[in-house]
Amino acid sequence: MTPRSLSEYESRRDFRRTPEPSGRSKDAPKLKKDRNPIFVIQQHDATTLHYDFRIEVEGVLKSWAVPKGPSTDPREKRLAVATEDHPLSYADFEGVIPEDEYGAGTVLVWDAGPYKNITEDDDGNEIPIKKALKKGTVEIWLEGKKLRGGYALVHSKMRGDRKNWLLVKMKDDQADARRNPVSTEPKSVLSGRTLKQVRKAHEDGG
Ligand code: MN
Repeated sequence: MTPRSLSEYESRRDFRRTPEPSGRSKDAPKLKKDRNPIFVIQQHDATTLHYDFRIEVEGVLKSWAVPKGPSTDPREKRLAVATEDHPLSYADFEGVIPEDEYGAGTVLVWDAGPYKNITEDDDGNEIPIKKALKKGTVEIWLEGKKLRGGYALVHSKMRGDRKNWLLVKMKDDQADARRNPVSTEPKSVLSGRTLKQVRKAHEDGG
């Protein structure tokens, strides 16, 4: 069975050609029940280089493409364009999507780890993540290898594309205006490889 929200993901891809996982449950990772949900940020060297920010919500990965990547500086608002839900099994996808396929280019797992929903209403009660997404303000605490602490995803109320959100580091002890992990920490947290090395391994593999 495939979650219905993955139909767009599936319709865009030819799984005989792309090495990406399908949304079918046979490909789903085996995960413990009582665990925190996961987030993943994939560096994706497609038509333009960007960072795909994904958070697990009810069995799928809610996804945004962040052209400049995440910042650790609370003053930096990063555009995050909502994209189609991805299957959970996408979280450890690293490889090369072939030319002429949707999203053609090299992908690596730039950061990953568990996250916690910290979205609250004015009285300090937790707002469930699905409701928070609908309302357009999501606050999450990341426990990644590169990114830690609170991040806010806020649906942009500005005129323009309804898909536009902003990704902003929240002010906490993990905020650091001097760090710039997007440029100083380019390697995969899964394999230790750079984009170039992922591509070369693919080419050498034939
Ligand atoms: Mn992408």
